[in-house]
Amino acid sequence: MRKNILSLQGMNFPFFSVNTLIIGSGAASLNAALCLHEHGQRNIAIVTDCWGGGTSNNAGSDKQTYYKLSLAGKIPDSARMMAEDLFAGGCVHGDIALCEAQHSAQAFFNLVRLGVPFPHDRYGAFIGYKTDHDLRGRGTSAGPLTSHLMFETMAGEIRRKGLALFDRHQVISLLTDQEKGEKRVIGAVALDLNDLEKEVYGFVVFNAENIILGTGGPAAMYEASVYPESQWGAAGMAFGAGAIGHNLTESQFGLASVKFRWNLSGTYQQVIPRYVSTDDAGKDEREFLRDFFPDLGSLASAVFLKGYQWPFDPRKVRNYGSSLIDLLVYRERNLKKRRVFLDYTKNPGRGSDETFSFDILSEEARSYLENSKALLPTPIKRLNRMNRPAVELFCDHGIDLENEYLEIDVCAQHNNGGLKGNLWWESNIRHLFPVGEICGTHGVYRPGGSALNAGQVGSLRAALFIVENYGREPMNENLFQKKSGRQVEELFCKAQAMIEKTTAKEKFSAALTVIQKRMSSVAAHVRSLPEVKNACADAHRLYKEMSEGTGVKSSKDLPFAFRVLDTGLSHVLYLEAILEYLKKGGKSRGSFLVLDPEGESPNPGLEKTWRFSLGDEDHFVSRKILEIGLDDKGHIHKKWVDVRPIPEESAWFENIWKDFRDKTIFKR
Ligand SMILES: Cc1cc2nc3c(=O)[nH]c(=O)nc-3n(C[C@H](O)[C@H](O)[C@H](O)COP(=O)(O)OP(=O)(O)OC[C@H]3O[C@@H](n4cnc5c(N)ncnc54)[C@H](O)[C@@H]3O)c2cc1C
Repeated sequence: MRKNILSLQGMNFPFFSVNTLIIGSGAASLNAALCLHEHGQRNIAIVTDCWGGGTSNNAGSDKQTYYKLSLAGKIPDSARMMAEDLFAGGCVHGDIALCEAQHSAQAFFNLVRLGVPFPHDRYGAFIGYKTDHDLRGRGTSAGPLTSHLMFETMAGEIRRKGLALFDRHQVISLLTDQEKGEKRVIGAVALDLNDLEKEVYGFVVFNAENIILGTGGPAAMYEASVYPESQWGAAGMAFGAGAIGHNLTESQFGLASVKFRWNLSGTYQQVIPRYVSTDDAGKDEREFLRDFFPDLGSLASAVFLKGYQWPFDPRKVRNYGSSLIDLLVYRERNLKKRRVFLDYTKNPGRGSDETFSFDILSEEARSYLENSKALLPTPIKRLNRMNRPAVELFCDHGIDLENEYLEIDVCAQHNNGGLKGNLWWESNIRHLFPVGEICGTHGVYRPGGSALNAGQVGSLRAALFIVENYGREPMNENLFQKKSGRQVEELFCKAQAMIEKTTAKEKFSAALTVIQKRMSSVAAHVRSLPEVKNACADAHRLYKEMSEGTGVKSSKDLPFAFRVLDTGLSHVLYLEAILEYLKKGGKSRGSFLVLDPEGESPNPGLEKTWRFSLGDEDHFVSRKILEIGLDDKGHIHKKWVDVRPIPEESAWFENIWKDFRDKTIFKR
């Protein structure tokens, strides 16, 4: 890495040149850095706003799942079968699904080799279990903190290898140029968060032949969110540079605790806690679910099922299914304006004429509890028996499930869509490689745990492609200055203008609150065309206002302002994508329900406004993928593209060996 000074208009910006700049320090970015290093590319640097921040290091669940090719047991498996299952999620490109399946074992064993403690038996069988949308037991787990262990293990390796790291550097813009008629990335600008009060407000410029973008999911867009607070997302800056997004309509939502953000899946539901709502002051307690189930047994069995069926799924709302619970929690909080809690100290049905007993449960629920030796008198006793660490985890975060209620909401957890990449994870902007959650390789449904697999495979493939094709030295510094100077100056002027406006920083705070409320109320798991239409128009107005008229108190507030601008632009594109989907007649699917006055009622006790219909797999929106992006003038472009099928591979060894030796396989 070369260090220099970039002089523009009499100002001196710290300036670094590298072959590959890796933005973010989540599991995907760290793997990209290690793979590049291992394959011989040493001129690399990681730049991250917070080492240890982001989703991978800070999120988890009851048993956080990593999805991989099945490697043990009697159920046969193959990469082809795995690709077919990923593809079956709907709106998934077949070539990408095939890559994620083919590299799955390689990526998994890389983590094992580095030291992530995935369990195996005495014969070396990395035993698996069935996760959602999975018939072959491809799930595995290193416990509730699988992704944290992945981060920790790879972070240790990064330190041992002494890779260059810019911590507390928030990237605010990507620099681009034209090459052979195509747009390409040539660098990035970051704010050094320790140096904001200097003359150049902490601006640091990177000249990079390649950028691997691993900035994670769009967490900051939602008010109800189980993403860790340290995660924001930075898709806005990629959209601003011209990157195309796809499948932005597809995210996952589910029940989570709000005081300490944690996913309430698995045993948190299987022990059958009591769902209660109260008024704002904690008074007027009600077991609100009971009005919508025919008897206590069906209610308790649906709560049990929520353990396996965590993300909200409109197909599981009818017939007293487990996703009816998410809908009722949402209704209670958003429409009735009441708070909702889980009570682990008592069984459901309190104060009614029905009494909870194990005999009223479905056979599946009862036998599960029996096999777990958890036929115990209260939910907390059952949870202590089945998963004591789950109780301790909340204790460590100041919540005592033995004595207090746990406040919950239906929260955004994961974005299945995101930026588009090709089969080497290169975006439509050449030399820019989105990896991990920001790269939306999943479609409508995805097997639990496949996000972590996709992050590892994508970052591995991006690194391989860079080493083979884009390994050259970064651009000559004078040339870089010529190509990027105006972009850096414009960005700097934008920052300067914000400071000069000196309106209160709270304007950006207020805008963020508006964005988050808007996304959680109309663009989360309950959607309707009229509401999204209005929200979309409001989103454009807000983003325009923010970009043109909002100031900050001082340069110390610039990082926050740039984040809110980024989130603002992202929410415009996400809403535009949802609007387009609904206008094309798209119905409920994945993890959202589309209200439809012509549809059926999800439950006899619910108001007419809750009518909905399920999507049809032959419908236009099921056969195509919606791509969306901005042109150079900032206008939005939308395009429905065909879903690419899974390629038929040539299975002739000699031919593939030759292509491999000739490097033909690495051609774009
Ligand atoms: C509660 C919860 C449970 C989950 N459970 C599972 C599961 O069981 N199985 C599964 O497969 N997936 C699960 N997921 C999803 C999965 O954890 C994430 O998709 C994955 O960890 C994302 O990794 P990443 O490397 O892409 O991004 P992250 O780990 O989020 O990292 C993003 C990085 O980018 C940095 N960054 C962001 N913006 C900037 C910027 N502008 N400049 C510099 N740096 C920046 C952040 O600080 C961070 O270091 C879960 C997610 C949540 C929230």
